[in-house]
Amino acid sequence: MAAAPANYADFHRRSIDERDAFWAEQAQLIEWQQAPQQICNYDKPPFAKWFVGGTTNLCHNAVDRHLAARAQQNALVAISTETDTERAYTFAELHAEVQRMAAVLQSLGVKQGDRVLIYMPMIAEAAFAMLACVRIGAIHSVVFGGFASSSLASRIEDAEPTVIVSADAGSRGGKGVPYKPLLDEAIDLSAHKPAAVLLVDRGLAPAAMRAGRDHDWAALREQHMDAQVPCVWLESTHPSYTLYTSGTTGKPKGVQRDTGGYTVALAASMKHIFDAQAGQTYFATSDIGWVVGHSYIIYGPLLAGMTTIMYEGLPVRPDAGIWWSIVEKYQVTHMFSAPTAVRVLKKQDPEYLSKYNIKSLKALWLAGEPLDEPTATWISGALNVPIIDNYWQTETGWPILTLCNGVQQQSPRFGSPGKAVYGYNVKLIDEATGQELTTPNQKGVVAIEGPLPPGCLQTVWRDDERFVSTYWNSIPGRQVYSTFDWGIRDADGYYFILGRTDDVINVAGHRLGTREIEECIAGHPNIAEVAVVGVADQLKGQVAMAFAVPRDASGLVDDAARLKFEGEVMKQVDSQLGAVARPARVIFVNLLPKTRSGKLLRRALQAVAERRDTGDLTTMEDPVALQQIKDLMG
Ligand code: AMP
Repeated sequence: MAAAPANYADFHRRSIDERDAFWAEQAQLIEWQQAPQQICNYDKPPFAKWFVGGTTNLCHNAVDRHLAARAQQNALVAISTETDTERAYTFAELHAEVQRMAAVLQSLGVKQGDRVLIYMPMIAEAAFAMLACVRIGAIHSVVFGGFASSSLASRIEDAEPTVIVSADAGSRGGKGVPYKPLLDEAIDLSAHKPAAVLLVDRGLAPAAMRAGRDHDWAALREQHMDAQVPCVWLESTHPSYTLYTSGTTGKPKGVQRDTGGYTVALAASMKHIFDAQAGQTYFATSDIGWVVGHSYIIYGPLLAGMTTIMYEGLPVRPDAGIWWSIVEKYQVTHMFSAPTAVRVLKKQDPEYLSKYNIKSLKALWLAGEPLDEPTATWISGALNVPIIDNYWQTETGWPILTLCNGVQQQSPRFGSPGKAVYGYNVKLIDEATGQELTTPNQKGVVAIEGPLPPGCLQTVWRDDERFVSTYWNSIPGRQVYSTFDWGIRDADGYYFILGRTDDVINVAGHRLGTREIEECIAGHPNIAEVAVVGVADQLKGQVAMAFAVPRDASGLVDDAARLKFEGEVMKQVDSQLGAVARPARVIFVNLLPKTRSGKLLRRALQAVAERRDTGDLTTMEDPVALQQIKDLMG
């Protein structure tokens, strides 16, 4: 392979101007059963097909490939401070477990192309299930364990899984969080019924098993201890997984990822972005239910032959030193987290940061939400390692903006996630005219010129039309991929993200569609209308705040009655969407601020909630609405 040029600007330029040659080189980072015949097929924009004609397998590259050189090295260490357990698996052991899981899934009827929905806490079996799926060409769809029955049901209906893999319970702060009743309810709600449920019984909560449908993992595993399930060589374009993400409508989108492109993109990112070596240890504190969990708890580190750490628990339990004790014990070299988690740690005794020897750590990568300067400065001083902000989305699967230290060391700029990553032809676009903004420091929509690089979404699951209309048609006069984020770029090519252009909010690094929460609250029999907006929050970045108009307000005579009703509405969100989506407050109002054409003035609502100036309100129908909210907010 040609040596990487040491100059990042050249490296990036080449990835765009000599796209196929560049990615042909990156493709050599993984093993193919059959080499690709065409690097990128962009005959039908915006649908890009990467490494056409090539056959490979994600599990082969993540697990089997390493058996020759590192069978006895730890591949996966699953640490739970919830159950006080640590389970380490070498590559050889992981290989055996994944084959057992693959055999069990096959025994339950899973075939290539079938979907397997994974609704699990952060336990090793979740990783086995993901790897087992891609091993046999089944398409996994992991649903975050914090989602409740109706969110889960809509995902079951869309994915139509043959099998659902789940567990009796998760655990949070030492308290069991039963999953099985939520799953049963979701399956009852869903029009699609899976043929089987495979349940990992952790002994945390009673789980009623439905005869004929539900199967116990431990019992089936026993029957397949010596299973040998070879990797299926899959077309590069074969879907590896779908992962649901929120958008502006209430219906979540299934982001669909391919096999070859994703494997190459992650392998290349481990080299160029993370400067990672086989044998090192990677600790991403995310959850397998999110994209970071897919790319940098499971696949990326394993593809690179690293040990990956899976952590179930809070960052402050048993105390705020827990993460750093893990870094010391496992000699973690690479750590990946979110600004919210750092803000939580910042409120704890700083002593915890100096209690452990964390010399092994090379850098801390942070993503998922804007990294504010005080947080960045605090953590970089406390850890004394580089803090590397990186910006991306569920859709892209790997960073769009960051500093690629594996190519060339570059200094970070606080407040900026860095420069355009190789492969991404990032543009700033004037929202109204569709013109590209080339002068430094102009605000525009962050967009990506097609084709999207390998690893990004191929389409929206079973909805090509939605893929095009959602992402590629929002800018007038040109077909570019919109991130729906505002940004600016300085004269040196560093980008700064200024927030979303749509109604999506970001709570503690989790993306939530305000529409989804609104639909849930509007389902309450005594709510006539509701608006949910994201409001700035010191700890979580943003929180959801709901403004609801009751159908019958006669009972809301005092604060106690209002609080009781607020609790009821929050409970409804908890039970249908999950506590992640619960608004911080539900404020009852007589009227919502709207334009004369009936459009909700979300920005004005948000401004009032953040105690900012509301700006131009000449289009507002009835100023009384906003005045009442101002009064209520105090
Ligand atoms: P998700 O798909 O849930 O990862 O959410 C992606 C969105 O999170 C982006 O479109 C941004 O709005 C936001 N985001 C992610 N990373 C960053 C970052 N480093 N800085 C600012 N915003 C970010």
